Order: sequence, then C-alpha cells, then structure tokens
Amino acid sequence: MYNIVLFGPPGAGKGTQSEKLIEKYGLTHLSTGDLFRKHLGEGTELGQLAKKYMNEGRLVPDEVVIGMVEDKINETKDARGFIFDGFPRTTAQAEALDEMLSHHKLEINGMIALDVPEEVLRVRIKERGKTSNRVDDQDDEKINTRIKVYLDETLPVADYYASQSKLQKINGVGEINQIFNDITSVIDSY
Ligand code: AMP
Repeated sequence: MYNIVLFGPPGAGKGTQSEKLIEKYGLTHLSTGDLFRKHLGEGTELGQLAKKYMNEGRLVPDEVVIGMVEDKINETKDARGFIFDGFPRTTAQAEALDEMLSHHKLEINGMIALDVPEEVLRVRIKERGKTSNRVDDQDDEKINTRIKVYLDETLPVADYYASQSKLQKINGVGEINQIFNDITSVIDSY
C-alpha cells in the first residue's frame, strides 16, 4: 500500500505520470483539478464555487479543497493506496491530509517532485491548451498567475515533506518512459 504525493508546477507532467502509475500499481488517482473540473461539468454548487478561482488560475480556498478530498478518501473503499495529484497545494492542505490519513491509520510514504524549468512549462501548457479546452491553459496572464501561485503558495509544501525526510526530486524533462522509470525506482524503494 502506497500513498504518494506527485508534486510539481502546472505542466510538469503529473497527470501523464499518474495515469501510468495507477496502471502499474493499482492505486487510486486523486486529482483535485480533475475533481473540480468534473463538478464544473456537472454544474454542481461546488463546481460553481470553484469556477471563478480556476478560471483565473488562483487556488480554491483550503476548506473547500480539504472537504472534497476528505469525502473522496472516505468513499473509496478497499483502495490499495492513493496518488495525490495537484494536492496538497498549501501547507495547511498538507497538514490536513496527514490528519485525515491518520484517521485511517495511513500516512504519506513520500512526495515525488517533478523538476521542470519555467520556460518548458509555458511551452507545454500552451501546447496542452490547444486540445484541453481549459481556459486556464490558453492565456499568458492566467498561466503567469498559476506559475506565480505555485512559487508563492505551493512550493513551501515541498519543504513540509523534506522536513519529514519524504521528498524525492526527479528530473521532469525528457522521455515520458524515462521519467516514469525514475519515479518507479523511488516508489519501489519505499
Ligand atoms: P490542476 O488541474 O491541478 O492544474 O488544477 C486546476 C485548478 O483547480 C487550479 O488552478 C486551482 O484553481 C484548482 N485547484 C486544483 N487543485 C487545487 C488545490 N489542491 N488547492 C486549491 N486549488 C486547486
């Protein structure tokens, strides 16, 4: 049973690598961005609330995100473990995650951080924007906001896991399969 935080800036490849990891390890993918987009598509109250933040590239308030993750963990029975993708994005979310998992006698094995230079991220996000239908992928100002929010609010989450000796950095530039192999080497060492 593994509980892994896959970490990195927008456009780092978290979604792509998560898909391969769930296939290999049979883990449950918990992507808060995907969950919000599902709510948005279904027009739920939560989706309405998240919409304005998402469309501007800002973070949805912690209590909203934490409640949604808690529901998802509680409703997932017999999970072999979770890959957290795009969560936690603030130190408060990381603390709440530890607390939630402890109720199930679980903990995070480690955080795997994909390292990708900013100029590569911009190119990748714009490329994805051509097919993703995501308004936040298509406009320079929104992309700038997302990268700034990552640097200001999300990067400290890596320190949170580093202080527990749970942080592993991986080079996120190169062949998808090479990056995947590097990630699996880390997971297999847990
Ligand atoms: P993502 O698909 O992970 O890039 O997330 C898309 C958008 O959803 C983000 O820009 C935020 O507006 C929102 N979002 C996703 N995950 C979180 C989170 N953990 N905390 C706050 N907002 C989030």
